[in-house]
Amino acid sequence: LSASTIARQNLMVVENIPSVRAEIGAARSRGARIGLVPTMGALHEGHLSLMRAARRECDFVAVSIFVNPTQFGPNEDYLKYPRDLARDLAACDTAGVDLVFHPAVPTIYHDDFNTFVTVEGLSNVLEGACRPGHFRGVATVVLKLFNIVTPDVAFFGQKDYQQQTIIRRLCHDLNVPVDIRVCPTIREADGLALSSRNVYLNPEERRVALSLSRSLHLAQELVQAGQTDVPRIRQRMHELLTASPLVQVDYATLIHPESLDELVSVSGRCVAIVAARVGQTRLIDNLVIDP
Ligand code: AMP
Repeated sequence: LSASTIARQNLMVVENIPSVRAEIGAARSRGARIGLVPTMGALHEGHLSLMRAARRECDFVAVSIFVNPTQFGPNEDYLKYPRDLARDLAACDTAGVDLVFHPAVPTIYHDDFNTFVTVEGLSNVLEGACRPGHFRGVATVVLKLFNIVTPDVAFFGQKDYQQQTIIRRLCHDLNVPVDIRVCPTIREADGLALSSRNVYLNPEERRVALSLSRSLHLAQELVQAGQTDVPRIRQRMHELLTASPLVQVDYATLIHPESLDELVSVSGRCVAIVAARVGQTRLIDNLVIDP
């Protein structure tokens, strides 16, 4: 076994691009349909649900584990982002993944790296307004991963609603031949969306964090009871969220499901979407609402 290709029972772990290309080439020459699940590791049931969806639809499932520095702002949690490769590999193995691509940072961003992709417009609102440059980093690394792995299908979570919207637009605009699947948000029993960042929450913050999903359900109840006035709904969401002094709201509102524009009035399917800091931990969530 070379240092860069470590075989587990059924799982190959690959750190360099030529080895990925060789394995994918071999699978494709066997006629395999290739699925990719891009992740930053610290895997949880949300990630595993994407792997299972890939397993159902594809003959060969690749997972990338890469904490992508270019999507973190200078004051964000890049350095302390949770990393546990051994545990992640065991989870991938159990999920029946065929290949894990776990590159080092210089493998993805060589010394003179200087090309970035930006999906204009969609990248500037909501998360993009709060985290300047975030989606430029996301779009760039996802396009690189697509070019390295060349999947037929790639799997993303609805949890990152704006991210999947941007990735679908990237593929549409740049003729990227990858089908994008969006899988439902996996939640704890009480409704908290699973996130790698939930490990940062202390017990009190964990209780308070429930207000994010509660604010989304409040918006849904109001819409389904006939309320169409978005400023009014937004106010109710904010009131619920800020009932605890531990919560700082970045945004909590209703948006159009495709354009991501904030609505003034509800007239059809919409998305309730929230981002807030609970203590020091920034969390996001969303819910698609049919009136
Ligand atoms: P991340 O590791 O945070 O970059 O997430 C990798 C993928 O997992 C993204 O497509 C996320 O949208 C997806 N994901 C994260 N959390 C969840 C969740 N609770 N349910 C479903 N998918 C998720």
